[in-house]
Amino acid sequence: MKRTSDALVVGGGLHGLSAGLQLARRGLKVTLFERARIGRHASGASAAGVRTLGRARAELPASLAAMEMWHHMEELVGDNCGFEPSGQIKVAETEIELIDLATKVELLRADGFTHEEMIDAAELRALVPAISRHCVGARLVRKDGAADPHRTIKAFYAAARSAGVHIHEGIGVTSIDRRRALWSVGTTTGDFEAPLLVNAGGAWAAQIAAMAGDEIPLDSPKASMMLVTERVRPFLKPTIGAVGRKLSFKQTAQGTILIGGGQQGKADLVAETSEIDGMAMSRSAAAALALFPEIANLRIVRTWAGLEAKTFDNIAIAGLSPSRDGLMHLFGFSGHGFQLVPILGVATAELLVDGYSKVDLSGLAPERLMDASGARPVGNGVGWGRD
Ligand SMILES: Cc1cc2nc3c(=O)[nH]c(=O)nc-3n(C[C@H](O)[C@H](O)[C@H](O)COP(=O)(O)OP(=O)(O)OC[C@H]3O[C@@H](n4cnc5c(N)ncnc54)[C@H](O)[C@@H]3O)c2cc1C
Repeated sequence: MKRTSDALVVGGGLHGLSAGLQLARRGLKVTLFERARIGRHASGASAAGVRTLGRARAELPASLAAMEMWHHMEELVGDNCGFEPSGQIKVAETEIELIDLATKVELLRADGFTHEEMIDAAELRALVPAISRHCVGARLVRKDGAADPHRTIKAFYAAARSAGVHIHEGIGVTSIDRRRALWSVGTTTGDFEAPLLVNAGGAWAAQIAAMAGDEIPLDSPKASMMLVTERVRPFLKPTIGAVGRKLSFKQTAQGTILIGGGQQGKADLVAETSEIDGMAMSRSAAAALALFPEIANLRIVRTWAGLEAKTFDNIAIAGLSPSRDGLMHLFGFSGHGFQLVPILGVATAELLVDGYSKVDLSGLAPERLMDASGARPVGNGVGWGRD
């Protein structure tokens, strides 16, 4: 016998939890399936940078709206998720890099976006005393920051459950069918049906889209890597990136240093796992050392990689299916989806229940990646994707 809900959510990462939470708060009966365990993949591996700085234009409306929510996170999920608005900084190491940064900030200003600013070498050193002497200035968003990924998962999980979401861990979705006005979803533990379906399947979401009838071509999956050092005295507040290097560098509340920034390990979607690439990892360490010479003798205590879907234009997919009723796609975050979690849950509920969203998601619509027959990738715009 089929079990019936108002909405089914595939994927128990942060985006599935956030969407489930908002749908349940609209009074819907929601059932969520997670094949492994909650937060097992990208959400649990995340560096949890909360960044509007350098966002691609298509993601900017959602990202700025999400940032307002991060500053009131406790009202949303009963915990601030360890969010510290300690700023995000992108450092220039040469005058040419500095001009490049300043031009981008001016272009944003010309379009009415005032969240980014430029700082000179003296202010950079005041904010980041440990930065290497050769750095000449930076681009900064003071209201950005970073959170604690596991505290965020715990808070969204608890909020979703108390809103009434039925969360099934260890249950994979194996088939999807549309019959009459209902989605019929086969799982490893039986069949479920509902008029609404959310595809938040992370690195496997294109497979789920295909089961539901949408071909959304993707680039090769990402296996972004992180390393964490032993604890040291507090010496750094903001999160640091660089123009000419793949780097994301920050100190956690516990004193450890977290280094990432986009170097890639090896992704294996079939085995549902990823592996560290030691050579690529050493490039992350070298980038960190170039900007922070004093970390030279620190011990690395752990390294890891996390799987995630990457689109051809490095921009997220968040929108209704162009060809199927009652289907929301929410994936392809290409390494920078953590910050978008709170707002895209709200937008999912708005789109599925009201038919429109107050947030401008036009640049995130899945159809931009599908040709008329739903099969060919288009576009090659770039977002930073350094997280
Ligand atoms: C190392 C790393 C660092 C990052 N750093 C940052 C950062 O600093 N800032 C930032 O904004 N973003 C960052 N990101 C990106 C961010 O973490 C992700 O965009 C976000 O967590 C994606 O969440 P999700 O819910 O879409 O995916 P996931 O957390 O991967 O969840 C998808 C879930 O779907 C499940 N699933 C798949 N198929 C099925 C099925 N058939 N049935 C049931 N369940 C299924 C999977 O098991 C998985 O748990 C980082 C990512 C990585 C890997």
